[in-house]
Amino acid sequence: MNSRILRLRGEREPGPFLDTLRDIVGPAHVLTDPATTRGYTTDWTGRWAGSAVAVVRPASTAEVSDVTAACFKALVPITAQGGNTGLVGGGIPESGSIVLSTRRLDRVEAVDPIGRTIAAGAGVTVAGADQAASVHGLRFGVDLASKTSATLGGIVATNAGGARMIRNGDTRSQLLGIEAVLADGFVLSRWTSLCKDNVGYDLPGLLTGSEGTLAVITRVLMKLSTPPADAHVFLAGVATIDAALRLYDRVVRSGLTVEAAELMTEDGIDLVCTHTGAKRPFDTHSPVLALFEVSAHRDTEAAVVEILSASEDLIDNAVMDPPPARRLWQLRESHTESIGRESSTPVVKLDVSIPLGSMTSFVRDLESSLAQHHPAVRAILFGHFVDGNIHVNLLDVAKDDVDSLTDGVFSLVADHEGSISAEHGIGRAKNSWVHLGRTPIDVHTMNRIKFALDPRRILNPGVLFPR
Ligand SMILES: Cc1cc2nc3c(=O)[nH]c(=O)nc-3n(C[C@H](O)[C@H](O)[C@H](O)COP(=O)(O)OP(=O)(O)OC[C@H]3O[C@@H](n4cnc5c(N)ncnc54)[C@H](O)[C@@H]3O)c2cc1C
Repeated sequence: MNSRILRLRGEREPGPFLDTLRDIVGPAHVLTDPATTRGYTTDWTGRWAGSAVAVVRPASTAEVSDVTAACFKALVPITAQGGNTGLVGGGIPESGSIVLSTRRLDRVEAVDPIGRTIAAGAGVTVAGADQAASVHGLRFGVDLASKTSATLGGIVATNAGGARMIRNGDTRSQLLGIEAVLADGFVLSRWTSLCKDNVGYDLPGLLTGSEGTLAVITRVLMKLSTPPADAHVFLAGVATIDAALRLYDRVVRSGLTVEAAELMTEDGIDLVCTHTGAKRPFDTHSPVLALFEVSAHRDTEAAVVEILSASEDLIDNAVMDPPPARRLWQLRESHTESIGRESSTPVVKLDVSIPLGSMTSFVRDLESSLAQHHPAVRAILFGHFVDGNIHVNLLDVAKDDVDSLTDGVFSLVADHEGSISAEHGIGRAKNSWVHLGRTPIDVHTMNRIKFALDPRRILNPGVLFPR
């Protein structure tokens, strides 16, 4: 029961409020049965569990607007949610909120093959957008292992990075237009496919990465890219992260285009092979494994063989596959799931970025700090790495140690001049550490923007800004 509604509206039951929502979206789309709502109030990792007055599933922008206006009036908090694949607890409601699920906003409206754009509802999945693009020989530029569930609204709200960020940029750089419902129910639309358009503040850019705290995104207009004609994937075992970075440097200097670059460790590969039954990529063991997807104007295979032959000083062993190279990509994409199955406690997932020149020393300091202070905790590292991104996954962490361990890792990140959030956002998981990467005036400015757009603070309270 929603005590906040009872207090604020002086009513004995939230019933009249729920009736208002039922009138807007239809009774079948206001879910209150805990057995049904649990999938919306707990997260993928099992680390975050909340509760909601109801899960509301609007099917149009007009319905989102009416639901939001009703919540504004009744002072009921709203947590917008797409695929619920977020990893920082941002899509999990706090008690007394509604979950506003965007999954029914799932229409691909248009693909423009000449302008290379896609217009779609916020609830369309990344895989769905990619499928629609592929019909026209194009590709959606954001690629995540969670793509069959993660939505366009979710990737914009978190400014997701993903495997092809190095090639296409982050989600913000691929967003052209946006439609979003503001806290009071007004619909903001900035919708233009123009590449050049410098009129006023960059509102789509502002809403990107706002994690449901400034508006509910309902539709997006995004760029599409052209898939490379001749891409190849290779996996190289090397001794250190520095060696992997030197290999990357040689690949780029050779004239190959790097479509994706991923880092794994021997421990991570072992875990994936144990939990998925996948075969090891080769018999020899190397501490670090670097996966590259590369393309050239012609004969990529010959160019890859040439660069691998010229890099025997760096590489212990290597294997190459033509696309889609599922066997090699699955070794990387199965990490999150396999790590989740292996850990005896919910995995503490800390997605950070470090300047490239400091990555090796960061990992060394992290490993020695864990060995000294938390010997029972296992760390599995992986990530997109040539953009400085490392996903630090901590397994078997006792509940009482989560905050101190997180604090220790983030302090190390700050010491190495890195960022406490590379691509997953701040959510509820990191809101106490924002000061490590932002000055007091910067945080104050963000607070003022929040207040200007959400004066009643009904949009995702507790996310980004601590309570
Ligand atoms: C296996 C796996 C692999 C992943 N790989 C990557 C990766 O490579 N790169 C990466 O960046 N992330 C990755 N993620 C994290 C996650 O998939 C992304 O953060 C994704 O963008 C979340 O999309 P979603 O639709 O699931 O959003 P949700 O989890 O539903 O929500 C995430 C946040 O966005 C807000 N939000 C959602 N929809 C809207 C909307 N319409 N309007 C306003 N706010 C909204 C929510 O309130 C919440 O704060 C991965 C997750 C998993 C489980």
